[in-house]
Amino acid sequence: MENAANFYIDGKWVAPRAGTSFPVIDPSTEEAVTSISLGGEADTNAAVAAAKSAFSTWRKSTKAERLELLESILEVYTKRSDEMAAAISSEMGAPIDMAKVQQSGTGSFHLNAFISALKDYEFEGPLREGEESTHIIHEPIGVCALITPWNWPMNQITLKVMPALATGCTMVLKPSEQSPLSGILFSEIMDEAGVPAGVYNMVNGDGPGVGSQLSAHKDVDMVSFTGSTRAGRAITIAAAETIKRVSLELGGKGANLVFADADPKAVKQGIIRCFNNTGQSCNAPTRMLVERSRYDDAVEQAQAAAEATSVNAASAEGRHIGPLVSELQFNKVQDLIQKGIDEGARLVTGGVGRPEGLNRGFFVRPTVFADCNNDMTIMREEIFGPVLSMMPFDTEEEAIAIANDTDYGLTNYVQTTDPEKARRVARELRSGMVDMNGQARGSGSPFGGMKQSGNGREGGKWGIEEFVEVKAIGGWPT
Ligand code: NAD
Repeated sequence: MENAANFYIDGKWVAPRAGTSFPVIDPSTEEAVTSISLGGEADTNAAVAAAKSAFSTWRKSTKAERLELLESILEVYTKRSDEMAAAISSEMGAPIDMAKVQQSGTGSFHLNAFISALKDYEFEGPLREGEESTHIIHEPIGVCALITPWNWPMNQITLKVMPALATGCTMVLKPSEQSPLSGILFSEIMDEAGVPAGVYNMVNGDGPGVGSQLSAHKDVDMVSFTGSTRAGRAITIAAAETIKRVSLELGGKGANLVFADADPKAVKQGIIRCFNNTGQSCNAPTRMLVERSRYDDAVEQAQAAAEATSVNAASAEGRHIGPLVSELQFNKVQDLIQKGIDEGARLVTGGVGRPEGLNRGFFVRPTVFADCNNDMTIMREEIFGPVLSMMPFDTEEEAIAIANDTDYGLTNYVQTTDPEKARRVARELRSGMVDMNGQARGSGSPFGGMKQSGNGREGGKWGIEEFVEVKAIGGWPT
């Protein structure tokens, strides 16, 4: 990759001013694919200065100009979609077929969704009918720092860059140092699509370096962050000094409530959902709560589904799961599986160590624990691997209480064929999203969490609103 070691600042690819070299490891082979640069303060400052300077003109761009730009980005992105899938697959281990459809595909999905949200969005108008002399303007917040994780790189990048562009903000993207290739390719796409110089900038770096520098920077007006609750906390503290807006999309520990009257396929679908992306999704349904009359059968079904899950290299075609992203994550997941055993959960299948036949690469055995209780570490901490924890419940109230007894509140899941119960339970769950009976939420619906899962909402008109300031003007000449 030609620009691997460079940054994209003020419409040009530039060599780092203060960079150190960092290897990109293919998690299937544990070998370095290439090296990138981790920037330093001089790189952060140059990117922020470019964004600040471009803001004075981009903030005055028209909605029509911004729509045209988004459409041009979509066109180039679509053309380079397979390249994007290959980059994501090699940097973070998503199996290539899944990377094409889901990982790269999510970028074009969000681009399309933001194009329609922008078309419908009214940036200004009267306070209300009959009150025309009070005028409300939604204007861009300014220079935005966009800090993203490695697990769904294009999903996160497009969920931030597109609404920032759509509102007239300028920005500095810092992709995860674990998945930088997709961010570099994305910057090439932005360049080819004709984004004006300085409007979009990209600097690679790590959390303590570029991440913290952006969070504390006096010329950054907003940080939009997706990643761990730990980093979200650090960013909030770093940003406090300058009172900038901080929008957070953090971790999750979703419960999947399987009632006795659920569809027969609900357990198998729950396992597939939990193991998708090798379990590395903030919204994965990792705690399966099953009504007692169906529990033993559900454990058997979960075992069968986990044992039918094949694990293989990211480059191999087919419907397997891949490795975890890094050695660090591999060791963390191994420790958590061991903790599950030590704390007395029943290991139904899987366990510590690599799957048979895979001696290299950060591969984990698809694992199911049963007879858990909600105090166990595996029920409380985000594991970020193909590990499901199951426990029985007796009543609807008990299921809701267990689901809500967590620091997180991102996505919960409900499986029941009783429409009254579905509506009742959905209202009681303390999470930003509730997915019921395997039905996907519509395009443009808001994504985000409650409690320690964060405070932001991404996607659709809610995603646009994150990036605007609201100005109220009295005495507006009518
Ligand atoms: P991470 O928090 O370690 O890193 C995320 C990003 O933040 C990276 O770019 C990293 O360099 C940067 N960073 C780390 N420490 C920082 C600091 N102190 N200041 C500024 N930046 C810092 O998380 P990760 O391991 O890359 O991603 C996995 C986490 O992301 C999981 O907890 C997952 O649940 C969460 N996630 C949440 C959502 C959501 O929308 N809620 C989506 C995807 C992932």
